[in-house]
Amino acid sequence: MLDMQEVTGSSPVSPTNFFIFVHIRRKEYRKQGNLTYLNQITVTFNEGKKRSFHRGITLNQVIETIFPDKYPHVVVGILNDQIVDLSFNVDEDANIGLLTSDEPEGLQVFWHSASHIMAQAVKVLYPDALLGIGPSISNGFYYDFRMNTTLSEDDLGKIEAKMQELVRIDQSFVRKVLTKDEAQKLFQERGEHFKSELLQEIPDNEVTVYESGDFVDLCRGPHVPSAGYIKHFKLLNLAGAYWKGDERNPVMQRIYGIAFPEKKSLEDHLKSREEAKKRDHRRLGKELDLFSFHLEGPGFPFWHPNGMVIYNETAKYMREVLTRHGYQEIKTPLILNEELWHRSGHWENYKENMYFTTIDERTYAVKPMNCPGGLLVYKSRPYSYRDLPLKLSEMGLVHRHEKSGVLHGLFRVRQFTQDDAHVFCMSEQMEAEVMNLIDLVDEIYHTFGYDHYEMELSTRPKKSIGTAEMWEKAEKGLSHALNKKEKFYKVNAGEGAFYGPKIDYHILDSLGRMWQCGTIQVDFSMPERFDLEYIGSDGKKHRPVMIHRAILGSVERFIGILIEHVGGAFPLWLAPIQCMILPISEKHHAYARQVHGKMIEKEIRSIIDDRSEKVGYKIREAETKKIPYMCIIGDKEMDSHTVAVRKHREGDLGGAELPSFIEKIVDETKRRLSH
Ligand SMILES: [Zn+2]
Ligand SMILES: [Zn+2]
Repeated sequence: MLDMQEVTGSSPVSPTNFFIFVHIRRKEYRKQGNLTYLNQITVTFNEGKKRSFHRGITLNQVIETIFPDKYPHVVVGILNDQIVDLSFNVDEDANIGLLTSDEPEGLQVFWHSASHIMAQAVKVLYPDALLGIGPSISNGFYYDFRMNTTLSEDDLGKIEAKMQELVRIDQSFVRKVLTKDEAQKLFQERGEHFKSELLQEIPDNEVTVYESGDFVDLCRGPHVPSAGYIKHFKLLNLAGAYWKGDERNPVMQRIYGIAFPEKKSLEDHLKSREEAKKRDHRRLGKELDLFSFHLEGPGFPFWHPNGMVIYNETAKYMREVLTRHGYQEIKTPLILNEELWHRSGHWENYKENMYFTTIDERTYAVKPMNCPGGLLVYKSRPYSYRDLPLKLSEMGLVHRHEKSGVLHGLFRVRQFTQDDAHVFCMSEQMEAEVMNLIDLVDEIYHTFGYDHYEMELSTRPKKSIGTAEMWEKAEKGLSHALNKKEKFYKVNAGEGAFYGPKIDYHILDSLGRMWQCGTIQVDFSMPERFDLEYIGSDGKKHRPVMIHRAILGSVERFIGILIEHVGGAFPLWLAPIQCMILPISEKHHAYARQVHGKMIEKEIRSIIDDRSEKVGYKIREAETKKIPYMCIIGDKEMDSHTVAVRKHREGDLGGAELPSFIEKIVDETKRRLSH
């Protein structure tokens, strides 16, 4: 297995996640014309409590004085908005705060510190191991090594035991500032050529290294004060990973791990990890015969009949909702000529991820996005303000090149369908349209059984097009819409697309994981590039506002997430097989076929299991296939024209008249109940 997460950075060259490792430079304390240094400094805690201390006191000492009863789980300090080690010396008046491992940023420091301890243990056990990188990630940490021994899962226990020893010895993480030359000499002497390579890429003249005993790592920090903090940890698995994620580079051995300050948290995490493994959509996809992948088309999903039911029911539902919300569906070509992609800007910005082909000696591209096609449809006729808003939806099949190492079941593929749509409106309609979209997303997520999600509003980045006035108007439109709908949202300042601000949705699944799915994006670029217009009520030409939006995102990925969310037990309206008919013996076959015929008439997806197996065995098998309903048919049912109903996970529901049972299934399907 090759794992190539997009990570460049222990000593992340760049931040590996939302948490920013801050490179601290000591400021020289020098007041102009006043060389008398005061030996007292004032420290303000969380912009409240003020205390005086001796200059140079460590942050840890400050915290211990302010909180003599110990503040639990403190891992690092915040000094004037920068996250620093607790051993940091406070040299001037400062505002300080603290971060605990119960907070996401603190936990990231905790995990990253654990990666150092793991690396130290590996170096003790395998002295020839060369260090790659060891960052924290969204669910733990890893470290990459290059060494002669090929590690196996059995070696993880040995490494864990060595880590326990290091935790008991409780060495401190000692931060040292070196010049780049000094650091280069240090790592060259140790033969750590991967570290030397990383060093060369750092533009600063000073770098920091962290020592724990005789282990030393190039790292920006910060870390917990000492190894003793990392009491509860577990090494999870091994993977191969190319150095710097580049397949031309050597393959490193990557060890993943997890750590928590409390034993209970670690146990809970390992439990939900086990559950996630059981629900892995790649495994369930095989067990429930939903889809497959083949070497003949890496990253291109093959949908099987069962999977196709889920796919088509999803698409059918989406069409129904969108029609109700005033959308009109379009379909645009998969392959369009090169010139179009120059005009749309994709050639310039997205070429690496696109596939090309030649027709009549001219270059064409396979579409990675649906927007340009939608724009050509818009441009095919004139519009007046009365035609707006115009909502064009497209279940658009797109192809994007992904490196083979990052492909992952349905989550990361090279071909997928976006539930795409473009809303063209007047700028004064934008806010109302965004409010409509917020309602639409609520309705759709609720139907699929997702009632919790988080929203993020991303605003103007440094590199962007459009005027300040356009941005302000669009950002205000989005935030007003969110406020009017009483939505809580996080603002990601400067994280918008270069062409406009956006709202992103992250849905929460039943295992507590967040998945980015929906997006609503205002675009200033495309209407300009494609010279879109409409005639306003003043009789003059105006530019419409364009909103791109996807709610499921990639339908393939959304189904993958759903498979794991429901653990393969789909709600009735999506279930590939809704009802399994189980005749007890051969004499019941004729009536079973009658029942089946009645169900098919009402478009209920049912099948008969008429194998000569015992009925108990057939029931267990239908249970493992997670089929919502079973109808068991014996003498009693045959004589009274009823069925004995069993429901997945709930068991026996007793006998039912056939017509009323059929009506119940039809009604439940129509209402698309999520549970
Ligand atoms: Zn580090
Ligand atoms: Zn678009």
